[in-house]
Amino acid sequence: MKSKILLSVFVICLIFVLVGCSGVVSPIAEENQEENVTGEWLSTENEFFIIKYCSGYKNDAEKILNYCHFARDTVMSKYPHKLPYKPAVLVYDRLHWSLDEGTMMTECGSTSGEVYILAPSDQTNPYYDTLWYQKNIIHEYTHLPFYYDLYSKPQGYRDCPGWFSQGLAEYFGIFCSTSSILQKFEWGLSEIKNLVKNGDGYLMFVGADVYCGGAYIAKYMYEVYGQDKVANLIKSDALSFSQAINKELNVTSGEFEDEWLKWACKEFNADYEQLYASE
Ligand SMILES: [Zn+2]
Repeated sequence: MKSKILLSVFVICLIFVLVGCSGVVSPIAEENQEENVTGEWLSTENEFFIIKYCSGYKNDAEKILNYCHFARDTVMSKYPHKLPYKPAVLVYDRLHWSLDEGTMMTECGSTSGEVYILAPSDQTNPYYDTLWYQKNIIHEYTHLPFYYDLYSKPQGYRDCPGWFSQGLAEYFGIFCSTSSILQKFEWGLSEIKNLVKNGDGYLMFVGADVYCGGAYIAKYMYEVYGQDKVANLIKSDALSFSQAINKELNVTSGEFEDEWLKWACKEFNADYEQLYASE
């Protein structure tokens, strides 16, 4: 179990802001891009995606294209959106891949988006199976409409907590996809359950784990406030994320956090009155 927990840490997602904002730029990613095989890319393209791949990796490209459609459908059902560009998905062979094999990465802004993936047939660790690809492509895909909506709005906040951006991506990937995916990734979620049951389930603590904690916070937001309000929160013209919570969800930050505790206690069968109500 421990090794699996470590592996999950390698699923990193770096967002490069292309227009108007400062963002995180990873030297690894730049290096990776420089040594890519642009001149040798083959590609397959349809209405929604461009898949680029190396010679000999056509089967991988087709597989990834299928996962991309599954990802798009999954995200579309919870967060309807329209991208003004066609995302490119680059399927690297092992030779040109400089990151860990458990890494998948997205670079996106308001005018373009690319996802970098190691070809499934070049994976040597069986943990990175079909379910892993399906779930993580949903995760990466979520960043595309999310950051498009966040960065293309005429005004409003652009910095948001990691538990919101990563949490939404994990929520769609784990909870809104298939029962087999949920089963594979459920182990990482028990930590959150323990926090809530031990009286440490405050949003700030849970949200520190932007992936697993964030996934549950996103689940709470969808179940308590609904998908339209979550979309409004992303697109909000309020000047900060907490002001957007007030404006779009109609609650104060304190109420938002308290509602989280009540929801989490119900979700994990913990005693809210005993654990949190007296404070
Ligand atoms: Zn991510």
